[in-house]
Order: sequence, then structure tokens, then C-alpha cells
Amino acid sequence: MKKVSEKKVILANNFPSVIVLMLGILPFNLFAEQQTLSDNIILKGEFIQGGIVIGQTSPGSQIAYDKQLIRVSPQGSFVIGFNRDEPKTVKLKIVTLDGEIISKVLDVKKREYQIQRIDGLEKSKVSPRKPEVLARIRKEGVQAAQARKLDDERVDYLETFIWPTKGRISGVYGSQRVLNGKPRRPHFGVDVAAPTGTDVVAPASGVITLAHPDMFFSGGTLILDHGHGLSSTFLHLSKLLVKPGDRVKQGDLIARVGATGRVTGAHLDWRMNLFKRRVDPQLLVPPMVLSN
Ligand SMILES: [Zn+2]
Repeated sequence: MKKVSEKKVILANNFPSVIVLMLGILPFNLFAEQQTLSDNIILKGEFIQGGIVIGQTSPGSQIAYDKQLIRVSPQGSFVIGFNRDEPKTVKLKIVTLDGEIISKVLDVKKREYQIQRIDGLEKSKVSPRKPEVLARIRKEGVQAAQARKLDDERVDYLETFIWPTKGRISGVYGSQRVLNGKPRRPHFGVDVAAPTGTDVVAPASGVITLAHPDMFFSGGTLILDHGHGLSSTFLHLSKLLVKPGDRVKQGDLIARVGATGRVTGAHLDWRMNLFKRRVDPQLLVPPMVLSN
């Protein structure tokens, strides 16, 4: 394996181990902020770039988020999220069945992102030029985008997420990437280093919307939809154990870690999207606790 130079600074890894142990037994939403907009409208989550916020309103409400109508479950739950570079404020408007109108400007905290340098990648994977390769990349991009368009009524996103695999965190959300010395798109996943063949389980229940054995950049790739447009993507897999349309429960074995696609070593790259918005999976799970 080639040398990977990257910063491994993670909030969670800087906590004293006693605190990590304490936090490990508490739900993630200990960190979550709660905003009460009215008697029956509550928002809970991380109001920060990359954050995900779960809302509860009265059944039958209509919601516009960032000027788009979004799905509200029959019980009144909904999900909103913030991009890596989300502007400082986003508008939320809720109209309840009784005609109550709540207009709220949400403040989104700005984040500082790391710079991650990775050297030793295959040149053809960093600067692909061949027309047939470029066509393949475009086609695969369309397939992934299609899978992430699904707006399903399931509310699997209400579960408390678990880590899909355990290991050293070797890459974090949002990092500005320099690959073989060339600035590239930011990294949107959390990377967990683990040997090829390690189990990957569903972090929350959902339906498989894409299972591709070998994409150009991401190798073996799965997309798991958690409802209302929130999805998980798993990259660089060596083996896929599910197929599109499969309904999986939280904790079900869905794949094995690998080193396929553009990588320098075996790891799981777990990404999350709210439709096109890239959100940070690490904000949904407790700090990684490794038992030796
Ligand atoms: Zn990655």
C-alpha cells in the first residue's frame, strides 16, 4: 500500500477516553440542538454546515424549505439538511392545517474544513482523459443522481443511526482534497479504515436503490434510501450482499469493505445525501468507540 498523508484530527478522537465512554452509551442527540417554533413544531439536530435536522409538526402541515415543498409524514415528521457550503441562513415556512403560518430563518453555523493530501493514486484515476472513461464517469454519475432522487414516504430516518463498520477514522466530511498534488473536489464522506472483507451493516433501515459492482471512482457502490430523500452511499466495497429493491433493517449485513475504485487502501467511505445536498453522516452517530 502506498503512503497516505492525511490529517486525522477528529473531534471525537480528541475527547478524553472517559468522556468518550460516557458518550458512547448516550444517544447522539445529546449534542443536538432543539428549537421550538410553536406549541407543536419542534426541530432537533445540528444547525451547522453538513448538519441534519429532524422536524415534528402537526399532521397535515405543508412545509417549504429553501423555497421547495418537502414531504411531511402522516404523523408530521420531516427532515431538512445543510450543504457543505450552505449560506448563513435558510428559510423554512410551515403552514398547519389550522392555518397557522410559521416563517423561520434558520441560522447555519459555518464549519472549518481540513485539507487532505493523498499521494500515490493511479494517475489515470486522478486525471482521466480517455473519452470512453469520461463517458463512463458521466453515466455512473447519472445513475447515482437518479437513485438519490427518490422521495419515499418511509420514515426510517427517525431511527438513531449506528456506525456501518468500525475502525480508525481516516478521512472526514468536507475536507478539501489535493490528490497527487492536484486540487480536487471536497470529500463528502467519513472514511473508516478496515480490512477488505470486514462487515458493512445498514446504519438505519431502508431500501437499496443502487447496487453497482464497479464504478470508476467509487468501485463497489451501494445506495440505501432512508425515506424523504435521505440516503446513505457506501463506496469501495469488495462485495455487495443486497440488490436494488431490497428492504433492509438497521444492523443487517449489506456488504463487505474493499479497496475498489480510486483508493490507496481498504476502507469504507460512507456518505449521506438529502437529495442533492451532501450532509455529514458523522453528525448522526455517536463517537467511534473501538474495543481492543
Ligand atoms: Zn473517502
